Amino acid sequence: MYDYMIVGAGFAGSVLAERLARVENKKVLIIDKRNHIAGNAYDYYDEAGILVHKYGPHIFHTNSKDVFDYLSKFTKWRNYQHRVLASVDGQLLPIPINLNTINTMYGLNLSSDELTEFFKERSEKKKEILTSEDVVINSVGRELYEKFFKGYTKKQWNLDPSELSASVIARIPTRTNKDDRYFTDTFQAMPLYGYTKMFEKMLDHPNIHIMLNTDYKDILGVIAYKKLIYTGPIDEYFDFRFGKLPYRSIEFKFETLDQEKFQETGTVNYPNDYGFTRITEFKYLSGQKHHKTSVVYEFSKTDGDPYYPIPRPENALLYKKYQQLALQMENTYFVGRLATYKYYNMDQVVAQALATFKQIRDNEIANANI
Ligand code: FAD
Ligand code: UDP
Repeated sequence: MYDYMIVGAGFAGSVLAERLARVENKKVLIIDKRNHIAGNAYDYYDEAGILVHKYGPHIFHTNSKDVFDYLSKFTKWRNYQHRVLASVDGQLLPIPINLNTINTMYGLNLSSDELTEFFKERSEKKKEILTSEDVVINSVGRELYEKFFKGYTKKQWNLDPSELSASVIARIPTRTNKDDRYFTDTFQAMPLYGYTKMFEKMLDHPNIHIMLNTDYKDILGVIAYKKLIYTGPIDEYFDFRFGKLPYRSIEFKFETLDQEKFQETGTVNYPNDYGFTRITEFKYLSGQKHHKTSVVYEFSKTDGDPYYPIPRPENALLYKKYQQLALQMENTYFVGRLATYKYYNMDQVVAQALATFKQIRDNEIANANI
């Protein structure tokens, strides 16, 4: 009899398995239908011996010292600040849009103050910022919106930015200084030996049993446990009772090239050309030295593994209906990007899992006092 059955060995499931086993001395069974741990953060060495990310580039960044300290128990880090260029009108320009982007693009020599004025002249002020289109047009105007955001968003989501919640494009700021880093979080680093190694350490405990190639639905009623933590898609758990929650999927095309370097930076975005959204060259992320290089192209699609919840008001409403069902269940916790239908980064999922652990402990203390 296990104290906990945990469905999914990604960040959400693995953090909870680790905390429950190590801190609370619980017996935990963690299962995953895939043939590996680490969920979408899984990385491995490809045939050429280059560390690649099976489910697309995963760059760790957080402002939470708690999250960073927690993960630091299981890995050393390599400092890494991600930089992205966007291919626009035949030029490779830094994104997020910043002073260098505009000066290079238009052949100008503006100062930060002049750039603020430049944006002001072009922005179309919106009374309410509801959609992703509103976010960009309100801050930098229509031309930059069309060159950097409209096409990329259509490719990535098969939606116009006006059909997506503001939170999606709000992930990408606009800057009037020369900071060309993709993220400005306090902690930005990659696990020194990769994500999978970090997960192996996290799950290395005598109280944790791991079962791979195992779908939760196939072992229902077969294995005894007291409490359930579920990190798969919430609509699937409830047999799509209220209809399917939409997700975006991606097809990843990997290539290894017989050359040391392929592109100028970790990721190049292609908002307007080609069928793919972006190309990432993994050696930038890992710092690995190798005479070959491996890259991944991302093609967004509707069907396939669920990777991205789609932030739209009607999807949030549908999720709320499933959330109501989830809240009524006893001894069952829904955690993670798929189970709470949130466009979360890795650090947000770790924070959510640590908060759930605290909630579980508080519940147990309350029950023990009854
Ligand atoms: P997952 O990692 O999806 O884990 C859920 C696990 O549950 C999966 O392994 C799945 O196989 C398993 N599962 C589901 N259903 C069942 C079932 N019925 N039975 C058994 N097992 C089941 N975040 C960042 O911070 N930085 C980035 O650069 C970044 N880049 C990303 C790029 C892409 C292309 C994608 C898709 C995501 C990216 N993310 C990034 C987000 C990051 O992947 C997630 O925040 C994080 O991995 C979510 O962890 P999770 O445990 O909630 O879900
Ligand atoms: N985006 C864009 N152009 C870009 C980069 C991002 O239009 O060059 C928009 C797009 O809608 C994308 C969203 O901003 O889906 C979030 O981008 P991010 O790089 O955070 O996406 P992720 O890494 O999660 O796929």
